[in-house]
Amino acid sequence: MGAIDKLYSLKGKRIWVAGHRGMVGSALVRRLADVDCQILTAERAAVDLRRQAQVEDWLAEHRPDVVFVAAATVGGILANDTRPADFLYDNLAIEANIIHGAWRVGVEKLLFLGSSCIYPREAPQPIPEGALLTGALEPTNEWYAIAKIAGLKLCEAYRRQHGARFISAMPSNLYGPGDNYDLETSHVIPALIAKTHAAKIGNQRSVRVWGSGRPRREFLYVDDLSDALVWLIERYDDPEHVNIGTGKDITIHELAETVADVVGFRGRLQFDPSMPDGTFRKLLDVTRLDACGWRAKTPLRAGLALAYVDFLQRLEAGQLAEDARA
Ligand code: GDP
Repeated sequence: MGAIDKLYSLKGKRIWVAGHRGMVGSALVRRLADVDCQILTAERAAVDLRRQAQVEDWLAEHRPDVVFVAAATVGGILANDTRPADFLYDNLAIEANIIHGAWRVGVEKLLFLGSSCIYPREAPQPIPEGALLTGALEPTNEWYAIAKIAGLKLCEAYRRQHGARFISAMPSNLYGPGDNYDLETSHVIPALIAKTHAAKIGNQRSVRVWGSGRPRREFLYVDDLSDALVWLIERYDDPEHVNIGTGKDITIHELAETVADVVGFRGRLQFDPSMPDGTFRKLLDVTRLDACGWRAKTPLRAGLALAYVDFLQRLEAGQLAEDARA
C-alpha cells in the first residue's frame, strides 16, 4: 500500500468526474466540494462516452489532471441477466475510451471503479483481491463482470507499458442518495425501499422479496465510498486493485426486515423463489484498505434511513418516474 510520502494532493487540480449524474459520480461531486479543486463534468447530451471520438475531443479540450471513472451501464440482477449486450458493450467502450483517452492527454492520476462481482462465484470469503481470475464467474452478472475485469486490466496495462498512474477500486454493493428505484433495473436496497413504502401506503399485508432471502450481501453507503475514493487517489499508487467495503454482510432476509423497520411497515415478508438468488455470498476482504487506516463510517441502519429520506424527497419532487423511464 502506498505510504504517506507518496501523497498526491487534489488541491488545485482539474478533476473530471465521468458519470457525475450517477449515484457514485454525484457522491464524488459532493465529496470533492470539500476539496479546493476544479470539478469538470461532461453532460450526456454533449458527450456519449461510448463514442471514442467524442471522448477524445472532450479530453483534448478540457485537459483534466485527474479522472474518476464512475460512468457505467449498471443495474441489478434482472437487468444484468436480460441485457447482456448493453452491459458488456457499453462498459467496455466507456472504459476503453476514457482510459486510453486519459493516457493520450497525459492525465496524472486516474481511478477506475469496478465491482465485487468481478470475483469468482466460489471465491473464498471474505474475498481477497488475489482471488481475481481464479475461477468461473456468477452467470447472472458475468457480462458486467467481464467488462469490469477488462477495465482494471487496462489500468494495469497502461501503468506497465506507459508508466501511467492509473489505479482501480472494487466496492461492494452500493446504496444511498441518487439510487435507481425502477424495480425492473434496480438493486435490492432501492427495490425494497420502494416496495416496502408502497406496501405501507397501500396498507398491504405483505412485501414480495425476490429469491430465498438466504443470500448474503455487503452494503456500502455511497458517501463512504466517495470518501474512500478521494482518500485512495491521494495516497495509493500501486498496480493491484483495492477492495472497498465495510467488512460485514447480512442475509437478504435480515436486510428486508431492517428496511421494513426503517420504513415503518408492519406486514409480512413474502419470498419469491421464482426469482434468482444470484451468488450466495460476496463479502470483500478489506484488509488492504484497513491496513492503511481507512474505514467505512455509516452503519447500515443509519444509511438506510438516509436513503429512505432521499427516496421520499425525490418521490415528492416527482423525480422517480423519470428514473423508471431512463
Ligand atoms: P446482485 O448483488 O448482483 O445479486 O444484485 P441485486 O442487488 O439485484 O440482488 C441482490 C439479492 O437481493 C439477490 O439475491 C436478489 O434476488 C435479492 N432481492 C430480493 N428482492 C429483490 C428486489 O426486489 N430487487 C432486486 N434487484 N433484488 C432483490
